[in-house]
Amino acid sequence: MEKRDYYEVLGVSKEATKEEIKKAYRKQALKYHPDKNPGDKAAEEKFKEAASAYEILSNDEKRARYDRYGHAGVGGAGNGFGGAGGMTMEDIFSSFGDIFGDAFGGFAGFGGSRRSGGRRVSKGTNLRVKVKLDLQEISAGTEKKIKVSKYVSCNSCNGTGAADSNSMTTCSTCRGSGHVTRIANTLLGQMQTTSVCPTCNGEGKTITKKCPSCYGEGIVQDEEIIKINIPAGVAKGMQMNVEGKGNAARRGGINGDLIVVIDEEEHPELIREGNDLIFNLFISIPDSILGTQVEVPTVDSRVKIRIEPGTQPGKILRLRGKGLPEVNGYGRGDLLVNVNVWIPKNLTKEESKIIEKLKDSESFFPKPDKDDKGFFERMRGYFQ
Ligand SMILES: [Zn+2]
Ligand SMILES: [Zn+2]
Repeated sequence: MEKRDYYEVLGVSKEATKEEIKKAYRKQALKYHPDKNPGDKAAEEKFKEAASAYEILSNDEKRARYDRYGHAGVGGAGNGFGGAGGMTMEDIFSSFGDIFGDAFGGFAGFGGSRRSGGRRVSKGTNLRVKVKLDLQEISAGTEKKIKVSKYVSCNSCNGTGAADSNSMTTCSTCRGSGHVTRIANTLLGQMQTTSVCPTCNGEGKTITKKCPSCYGEGIVQDEEIIKINIPAGVAKGMQMNVEGKGNAARRGGINGDLIVVIDEEEHPELIREGNDLIFNLFISIPDSILGTQVEVPTVDSRVKIRIEPGTQPGKILRLRGKGLPEVNGYGRGDLLVNVNVWIPKNLTKEESKIIEKLKDSESFFPKPDKDDKGFFERMRGYFQ
């Protein structure tokens, strides 16, 4: 097809200023805009043609080449749009979209949601519930049934909000499409805009007689018992999303979500630290000296552990794998037994005498020799 002269396309003279060219292009582009000429192939071609002309004439260097060599000077590779095929719609909107300003509400959505139409679907609000778990439940994972007070779809009208099937009619304003299209006169010419139908709020239908149970809302307040599967290893503050278990939406939309927030019950003996558990063990001085066997709690039972003779206070005994499982993962934490030695404050006379006797015993507290530089080093070693 023979290419038309670019000046002719835009309807400007060869001497036109940049400002005149821009103005001329905007006029053409708005006239042949696809939103104003839906499905009109000829208009689309004109729209593209104007864009190609503007592409060249708005650029000093390209315009000079065009003036000198005609289409041959700008038709080949290197003009940015590759000759033959011309510009695509995407090219035009990404390159010159700003020239239209807000006339069409911006072009980001061209070909997207704004033109896809369809009725608006509402969504119910999310609900939050706190679930308190004990260590055993956290360790094994659990299923909880909780009673939730929320909006549910109205049974009388199946969530439509209408008294019966005869009291629901297609919205006369939008004819059921849920949106309205307006032609507005602006400085730049006539513009087509699409917005949510104000009569039916985008639902496409209007109710002539409301359902008496829900007063036309389509939802009623009720209670529901919801089963929640909680995986092992969760921790305080974690949140789980249970899709579709939140409040129902007005007149047949999508349910909101139920957000479950995890809380922990304190264990009487065990302290949680990440996936590890800590138990503070208290033993007597004789037991720490002579050694003993004690029972320590785990999440679901008690286990016996040996205390070696000469166990220092502050010693940590690690029971591997006796902690909590990794949430959604593999492996478990450990149980750390923190050994404390009880030092009595009040002794009988007899007991005091015995301790008194031990005071000077070398075994009860080794004394450094003169010039024994490694003494404190050795002592520290006992505590590790
Ligand atoms: Zn109802
Ligand atoms: Zn409507």
